[in-house]
Amino acid sequence: MSWKTGGCHCGAVRFAVLAPDAVEARECNCSICRMTGYLHLIVGQERFRLRRGADKLTTYSFNTGTAKHYFCSICGVKSFYVPRSKPDGYSVNVRCLDDGQMRVTSVSLFDGQHWEEAFAASRGAI
Ligand SMILES: [Zn+2]
Repeated sequence: MSWKTGGCHCGAVRFAVLAPDAVEARECNCSICRMTGYLHLIVGQERFRLRRGADKLTTYSFNTGTAKHYFCSICGVKSFYVPRSKPDGYSVNVRCLDDGQMRVTSVSLFDGQHWEEAFAASRGAI
């Protein structure tokens, strides 16, 4: 594992994530992920550092309010957020990593349209 860097489109928000060079990413079909095409890599707090742009983030919450959807107030890109499935960690958007930082070996589907069942079925895997 090594620290990979990424951020939003305009560069106001920059982060680092400790991750392997090749990962299995996760796609979710819930109401917000399907609209944004978000590709998840979920990590513990200790594997994530926000380097810049905390003051540029806007937070959006809905439904249970557990997930904190952070997006850049300048360019609108959601490069990471606090997911409902791991509220003590982060989900990084693999699409927002800098070029060549990480290889995605496969993408698995999380059935976020049926969140409770999908989470119960995947417990321990997230
Ligand atoms: Zn931005």
